[in-house]
Amino acid sequence: MVIKEHCGVVGVWSRDGEAPMIAYRALKLLQHRGQESAGISYLDGEIRTVKGMGLVEEAIDPALLGRSGLAIGHVRYSTTGMGTIDEAQPLSNGAISVAFNGTIPNYYMYGTKTDTEFILKVLSKSGDVRLGLKRLVELADGAYSIVILTTRGELIGFRDPRGFRPLVLGRVGSSYVIASEDSAIRQLGGNDIRDVRPGEVVYIDKYGNVESEVLAQPQGVTTCSFEYIYFARADSVIDGISVYRARVRLGEILAERHYVDADIVVPIPGSSIPIAIGYSRRSRTPLEFALTRTEMARRSFIMPTQEGREIVLVEKFGVVGEAVRGKRVVLIDDSIVRGNTMKHVIRLLRNSGAREIHVRVGSPMIRYPCYMGMDFPRSQELIAHNRTNREIAAEVGADSVEYLTVEEMIEAIGRRDLCHACFTGIYPLKYPQYSLRLGSMLRGWRV
Ligand code: SF4
Repeated sequence: MVIKEHCGVVGVWSRDGEAPMIAYRALKLLQHRGQESAGISYLDGEIRTVKGMGLVEEAIDPALLGRSGLAIGHVRYSTTGMGTIDEAQPLSNGAISVAFNGTIPNYYMYGTKTDTEFILKVLSKSGDVRLGLKRLVELADGAYSIVILTTRGELIGFRDPRGFRPLVLGRVGSSYVIASEDSAIRQLGGNDIRDVRPGEVVYIDKYGNVESEVLAQPQGVTTCSFEYIYFARADSVIDGISVYRARVRLGEILAERHYVDADIVVPIPGSSIPIAIGYSRRSRTPLEFALTRTEMARRSFIMPTQEGREIVLVEKFGVVGEAVRGKRVVLIDDSIVRGNTMKHVIRLLRNSGAREIHVRVGSPMIRYPCYMGMDFPRSQELIAHNRTNREIAAEVGADSVEYLTVEEMIEAIGRRDLCHACFTGIYPLKYPQYSLRLGSMLRGWRV
């Protein structure tokens, strides 16, 4: 499936002036979290920011990065249109630069144009960033993992009290790195990694002294279940739980509770692979990588029209005909949003001679939009909204379709404190989908 997500962040404190380059390398390793724009702010007497559109290597020329002991960086998807350079982060007001991962839907209530601008405004107004963060917790109703750089030479990382998005602290040599995922830090040769706890601020001063404080008591933690199912890298560990292991368990439980007699298991390439491994092992059905994915696929989300998206879909997948001809196939996907990819893949498999196609999905049915940082469409566009398994199977052209239940997903991931709003419609927000409407009513109330 293709879902746009909001962003990856990194913050670096370095003793030897390497912070901007470490941030640059880390952003490349977080590229899966955002491919529309990338940026880095670093401190060189004043805050300097280099940012651009596209992948990290296109957006940032490393030759433009100066040496500095402090830097923050960001990779981004936009939720509206094509995204513009104005929306690219980090966002700086001269004294503070901010990059964040998440969405704060009620920013409208405070008269700013974007949620990033809202964060910057709240933090600046309080003089002291930690006081500003306390105020932000009072005002913001949403998901936010933030990195902040100040002209005083501070690097600050903060995770919202519900812990929607991951954030970790680690070391790379003598440098400190705060990042969205630990896999990026470990790939840089780092270690000493721990999760920033929900509501915790990690504060690093210009001398490299690290302090941590729980600024806001965790308020019923609801970490995004899709980080485990789809978004995060399989080699990441979020809050002590291996993403890879969680995905394998999703597949094992699919095999235990949603088994179908078949000849082969085929994953849709990507996050579904460990889910298919789990299904195959537990059901003793052979695994075949019968679908291939072409490299250009990563850009499919940029296509603004349905026609454009369909052309990209054609270019995206190939089939190993020999592996599927005459076979009964269990087709594994991590999730289904609109169903376009699923329809296309099923057509490909049928044209290649598959005899039966049974879809097994490693997540519950996505029936509601997300207001906490994932770009799901509105309910009416979601294939599972108001449809039964049988109706979905008919719609995508499968012989059968089954999903995990929310309880099964919780069991597989191994933690109960997860957000599941896109499956259940129960939003862990004060002003769920009404926040935007409420915002227009309350405009005029300023921070
Ligand atoms: S609604 Fe779904 S995608 Fe959004 S934060 Fe919750 S679990 Fe994640």
